[in-house]
Amino acid sequence: MSSKTLSKFLHDNLEDLKSHGLYNVIDPLESGNGPLIRIGGRELVNLSSNNYLGLATDERLVSACIAATKAAGVGAGAVRTINGTLSVHVDLEQKLAEFKHTEAAIVFQSGFNCNMGAISAVMDANDAILSDELNHASIIDGCRLSRAKIIRYKHSDMDDLRLQARTAKESGLYNKLMVITDGVFSMDGDIAKLPEIIRIAEEYDLITYVDDAHGSGVLGNGAGTVKHFGLSDKVDFQIGTLSKAIGVVGGYVAGKQALIDWLKVRARPFLFSTSMTPGSAAACITALDILMNSTELQERLWDNAHYFKQGLAALGFDIGHSETPITPCIIGEEVATQTFSKRLYEEGIYAKSIVFPTVPKGTGRVRNMPTAAHTREMLDKALSVYEKVGKELAII
Ligand code: PMP
Repeated sequence: MSSKTLSKFLHDNLEDLKSHGLYNVIDPLESGNGPLIRIGGRELVNLSSNNYLGLATDERLVSACIAATKAAGVGAGAVRTINGTLSVHVDLEQKLAEFKHTEAAIVFQSGFNCNMGAISAVMDANDAILSDELNHASIIDGCRLSRAKIIRYKHSDMDDLRLQARTAKESGLYNKLMVITDGVFSMDGDIAKLPEIIRIAEEYDLITYVDDAHGSGVLGNGAGTVKHFGLSDKVDFQIGTLSKAIGVVGGYVAGKQALIDWLKVRARPFLFSTSMTPGSAAACITALDILMNSTELQERLWDNAHYFKQGLAALGFDIGHSETPITPCIIGEEVATQTFSKRLYEEGIYAKSIVFPTVPKGTGRVRNMPTAAHTREMLDKALSVYEKVGKELAII
């Protein structure tokens, strides 16, 4: 029997979430996460994956995964520092360093793990971290884990960042200072002001940390936001995930050799959690080869993103100020947002609502991710359903 205290806690809190439209229902897919998905026997146009380039279901990656799995098995068998480092992991790290134009790279089991491990390996209770208020949850948790003082600056507000950096520096309270930002902000699709962040970092001797989960494969001819601004030699930590544009799973830090050497002896998920499967590592290498040899997929992604954004805006939806393929359709109130998304679903479009606490209260949105794999027919179908449901619910 479970504890009465726990039962009451769970019951009360779950009911509270449900009554406020904040309870997230998970729909399992009966297909891969491509541009069309199957749920409950129905086929839907999928606008909710981070599979930007369609690589998650690409045959070339699937073949690489199968070949590596046949050669090395399904599991790596140990953590990296005992004997779970297979040559495919080392090959992947070399490929990532090449992809990011850095001296070296280190791979983690996920982007989330990577932020938890990398921040806390370098920062401690005698340090302070300047963190954009809209940074991803894994950055926030990584900062907390480090026990450094967390100083949040207003979203992409460079005056505020400069002021906070100056105050922290002049206080003399901290050994090290770091500035952390997402490269692309995942809920609004805006790009961090990296050139200015780097100028401020140089002025106040800040360690620089850019999590480019949503920029890699999308900006800078695929190499990401840092490359997009030509700043590859100015950013200390270039973080990425292998689960979005790369289509597989995993996370990484790319940077100077000494930094990577340090993370390999101090980042706790690297030391204490079993390494990525050989099949995943091999699929990532194939994805990086595709990205480094052609910009075709990025071009298709951007074409589709422009087309879909223009379509939604022309219908009269509020699509915010995204500078990337991330296309929010902002509805506002939580229950209204969920109703909108539910109606899209009933009409054959999978576009998930995103509400508090993932985004601030009152800014609920349906977030759309057009990808390179969508056809114009799929996007046209989505736009016509948006029009129908938008009119029905008096949103447009
Ligand atoms: N950082 C950012 C900015 C992200 O958007 C995400 C994915 N939601 C992550 C880290 C976590 O990456 P992963 O899914 O590989 O754990």
